[in-house]
Amino acid sequence: MGVTLFDTARRGLFEIDAGPVVTLYSCGITPYDAAHLGHAQVYLTFDILQRRLRDLGHDTRCVRNVTDVDDDILRKARELGVHYLDLAAEQIAVFDAQMESLGLLPMYSEPRATSAISEILSLIGATIDRGAAYEAGGAVYFDVTTFPSFGSVSHYGEAEMLALASEHGGNPTDPLKRNPLDFVLWQPSLPDEPSWESTWGPGRPGWHIECSALALRELGETIDVHGGGRDLVFPHHECEAAQSETVTQQPFVRHWLHVGLVALEGTKMSKSLGNLVFVDDLLQRADAAALRIAMMDHHYRTDWEWNDRDLAEGIVRRDQWRSATAGDGSAGLEAVRACLDNDLDTPGALRAIDAAAAQGLSVVAAAALLGVSLER
Ligand SMILES: [Zn+2]
Repeated sequence: MGVTLFDTARRGLFEIDAGPVVTLYSCGITPYDAAHLGHAQVYLTFDILQRRLRDLGHDTRCVRNVTDVDDDILRKARELGVHYLDLAAEQIAVFDAQMESLGLLPMYSEPRATSAISEILSLIGATIDRGAAYEAGGAVYFDVTTFPSFGSVSHYGEAEMLALASEHGGNPTDPLKRNPLDFVLWQPSLPDEPSWESTWGPGRPGWHIECSALALRELGETIDVHGGGRDLVFPHHECEAAQSETVTQQPFVRHWLHVGLVALEGTKMSKSLGNLVFVDDLLQRADAAALRIAMMDHHYRTDWEWNDRDLAEGIVRRDQWRSATAGDGSAGLEAVRACLDNDLDTPGALRAIDAAAAQGLSVVAAAALLGVSLER
């Protein structure tokens, strides 16, 4: 038996059916501002999954892209009066340091969107060759009517898709579109924006195409586990699947993994609302062990609200685990494995470690499987 996980597209629990090497792709950040706890929860989920897969004897290759060209980073660079790639370089360094401080396993690769312009251009060309995309006004749009299973990742109805497309800048009323849900593969750049030459005129990639191009380049035509925050299900992942499968004629993803959203005071954390809790602030107040425990007390699929009490409880638990020293260190390990195999039940895993530590037994190995070091 291996790890069973909820799959968004199949809407149920399925065992990850993978060979010796498991490929994973988690959608990364746009590096224009500090990473908040919602991002960290996504990458922590992929981290724990990788740790259990390695514990089961698999090799894992986890890619996390960097969206270093999009509306947000260009706007912020304009505001600050800096080059967008300088802003990206600075923020990537900050983000990588934070993820390392949180004890995340190093990525297999962290490719940037701007590293893949040639792959993006050939992917768009192949989509047009298949009759699934069209050119209009210097832009290229994917024609969703050519992909009958559009909607099979999110299972949203048309009204819901249209609402989400509007909310995420999809511009359904764009008069150049044949269908309101068609999405941009290539777009003309504004005069002060970066621009690359293409058959369809100078411009820059749309939002979704970079992840298809990078996933295909780094991991091949079919990824074992792909995901990110649940707000990426539509339009981002739905569009990625449509354009990728149109070109490769292969399943793009075996298992879709989506992580619940973290709120603060009842509102989803988002950069635009400014209601953010930052990983580096929390790591000033507690170590990675305590913070990981606080985050893992929330199952990855639930939406939850950050409360400072969580961090205080994480510290108490970490200290209880540290003070239990009897035995060979393996107490709780099998119970933690069983919890993780059951849809990454980290709250259950924490309780199993609590129970073993309450008997005074050392839980070093079980904690290590969760990436929690009990060394002082
Ligand atoms: Zn993505």
